[in-house]
Amino acid sequence: MKSLTLATLLLVLTLGVFAQTEKKVEKNPESTELYAPVPPIVTPGEGTKPPSDAIVLFDGTNLDQWDSEKGGVATWTIADGCATVKGGTGGIKTKRGFGDCQLHIEWRSPSEVKGDGQGRGNSGIFLQNRYEVQVLDCYNNKTYVNGQTGSIYKQSIPLANACKKPGEWQVYDIIYQAPRFSENGRVAVPAHITILHNGVLIQNNTEIRGTTPYIGLPEYTAHSMKEPISLQDHGNPVSYRNIWIREL
Ligand code: MG
Repeated sequence: MKSLTLATLLLVLTLGVFAQTEKKVEKNPESTELYAPVPPIVTPGEGTKPPSDAIVLFDGTNLDQWDSEKGGVATWTIADGCATVKGGTGGIKTKRGFGDCQLHIEWRSPSEVKGDGQGRGNSGIFLQNRYEVQVLDCYNNKTYVNGQTGSIYKQSIPLANACKKPGEWQVYDIIYQAPRFSENGRVAVPAHITILHNGVLIQNNTEIRGTTPYIGLPEYTAHSMKEPISLQDHGNPVSYRNIWIREL
């Protein structure tokens, strides 16, 4: 019985010492301050211009970073510092592949309103050539909500309609995490996407459930970590400018 009491006393003393050490650590601010890894220095761009570490995909002068999705050179119209869909020539896609990224892209639907629903200022930005962020003129234009501006096409309704008037420049800032596939080809971690439309949050770390077909359900088929970004030719003369990307 005596030895048990002694052991208990020792235990209490030991715990007491630990508790005091613990308190000392808590009082020491340096113990929770990290000095590595040091974040790289990035010089921000003026306004919406690219920051110093961005890859410029389109600066308004040429489509050298792009191919036609039909093969060969991209032949969309370049004028007034922007590239405009030339209906029937097909979409365009980046020569380089990208995975996780921050993408800045500015677009404009035609000022002359033609058509309605999905036929009005329709284009699209395909991450990894598969997952479409809808580009559409939804200013006083109704369509199915999982196909409106800023939807993940036929999957995810945007949190807001932040459309400007037809003919005005609009901005998407996209943060994209590519899907990860396991060795058996099944998706291990689905893609996720956050989108600001004209500074308004419209997709908040949204899970992408797979491809974005016009007909049928989304599905995942394994692909490489880096795939092109493509822009859709939906037959409407939508324009693009100031496209830059930061790999994450
Ligand atoms: Mg589209």
